[in-house]
Amino acid sequence: MSEPILPVNPEVANIAPDKLLGFQKTVSTIDGITFLTFGEPGFDTPAPVKEATKAAIDDNRSHYGNSQGEPALRQAVLAYMKDRYDLTYPGIENVVITSGVTEAILAIFKTLLAPGTGMLIPEPAFGSYFSALSVAGGIAVPIDTTKNAFKLTPALVEETIRQAVVPVKAILFNYPNNPTGVTYTKDELAALAECFKANDLWVISDEIYAELTYDHDHFSIAQFLPDQSIVVNGLSKSHAMTGYRVGFILGPQAVMDLIQTVHSCQVYSIPTFVQDGAVAGLEMKRSDLDYMKESYEERREYSRKALADMGYDVVSPDGAFYLFAKIPADFGTDGWAFAEALAQEAKVAVIPGAAFSHFDSANAYIRISYAADMDQLELGFGKMKDYIEKARAN
Ligand code: PLP
Repeated sequence: MSEPILPVNPEVANIAPDKLLGFQKTVSTIDGITFLTFGEPGFDTPAPVKEATKAAIDDNRSHYGNSQGEPALRQAVLAYMKDRYDLTYPGIENVVITSGVTEAILAIFKTLLAPGTGMLIPEPAFGSYFSALSVAGGIAVPIDTTKNAFKLTPALVEETIRQAVVPVKAILFNYPNNPTGVTYTKDELAALAECFKANDLWVISDEIYAELTYDHDHFSIAQFLPDQSIVVNGLSKSHAMTGYRVGFILGPQAVMDLIQTVHSCQVYSIPTFVQDGAVAGLEMKRSDLDYMKESYEERREYSRKALADMGYDVVSPDGAFYLFAKIPADFGTDGWAFAEALAQEAKVAVIPGAAFSHFDSANAYIRISYAADMDQLELGFGKMKDYIEKARAN
């Protein structure tokens, strides 16, 4: 009897299994490997969040919730965005609570993109965007920011739009950026907003690392372009709550109504007791969470110096908790091969830069996460240094 043919969507068949998945599987089988790969905050979830969540469970807050998000949480999101980034929205109808930013991105892509529509993606970029775009039927129109120290400029946007072979309706903008740590000043954002407006681009702004900026304050693009911005954010990174799965979307009401339609098909609502925990998190003062940022800042300095001492070329990261490092010149320019050698020989896992980009230029880089605690960083960089010194001596 012949095997039945699996009726798969060809877009999905094209993205899985990808090269990074294979690399990660191999790496995870290596005994004694130290991971410098995860975007996982090296902190416990703050006590007020845990207490509020536990109290909500005891209070039987465990039934179907409001599919757009509990009104109290949407209200807390509005207050938080006003307090932290001076963003004002008319009301809770402008907010959708999602299962993390990951789900938010998929809901937005499905809402905005008719099949075959282009989405500008400044690269290097968080890999999930590429899969979400394929699933939504959109087409990535990548912009290579490597030549400008990973910073997007109006000129790069204009040039890419001029050359695009599909209609371009929107841009996925992420800052502070994963994987480069690059972020933007108020003036740079104002210039980009003007360019987005002139080109009728909707901006999906993934600001999940907004609370982790080290050298200057974070400004939201929505301050400059309120009518064409959809802001996504969440508590995974700022509040060390990756496992709680809380994200949120804010934007003009007409588009939010449509996004909510898509969201409610994907995730009816995240657990109500988790939402109560998230309210407690959003109500915490920034100063109550500063200890995390201060510690990341120390880890950033330590990691940047360790890498520079080994001969990596590192762009100074202003935010998030990643370093995108050009591999030392005497180790070639193939990030996949270098990362594979580091994993097998030094027993340190990093992510090859090419996993974040369609452009060959990213292949000379690796991404290192300094979210891990200091002990892990010392161990990982120590092993990497031994490997590099031995290889140089041979
Ligand atoms: N957006 C970016 C840029 C990220 O780096 C990550 C996680 O690493 C996410 C979104 C995922 O966020 P969430 O945990 O809210 O789904």
